[in-house]
Amino acid sequence: MSRHQYDLIQCMKQPGRSIGLVCQSCEGRCPICDSYVKPTTKVRICHDCSFGHLYNKCIICSNFLGDDHELGTPAYYCLECVRLEKDREGCPRIVNVGSLKSDMLFNKKKAAAAAGQSSGLLK
Ligand SMILES: [Zn+2]
Ligand SMILES: [Zn+2]
Ligand SMILES: [Zn+2]
Repeated sequence: MSRHQYDLIQCMKQPGRSIGLVCQSCEGRCPICDSYVKPTTKVRICHDCSFGHLYNKCIICSNFLGDDHELGTPAYYCLECVRLEKDREGCPRIVNVGSLKSDMLFNKKKAAAAAGQSSGLLK
């Protein structure tokens, strides 16, 4: 469950017919709990996640999978998550990898600039 304690958010929309693909370093890894034990049910992702800029990226770490998904392999939920019916909760794609990091960096820069300005005014 480690991922959920951090700032990564899963899409959780109604899954469609598209199979979720992962990169080679995420192969066999459950997108819910990170387990490599007993991959059981193929992951399906929602319409939005199977199109546009997301469609050829790993659903777990957003690694590029090649123009024709040639580096991607189907993702599987582990037995434990299937047993807990987590595979029915919705599209498991991680949607904010990277974007959040750059947002934070941006805000920090802004804050630093603001602090610099106000201390400049005080002088
Ligand atoms: Zn799992
Ligand atoms: Zn989705
Ligand atoms: Zn990956």
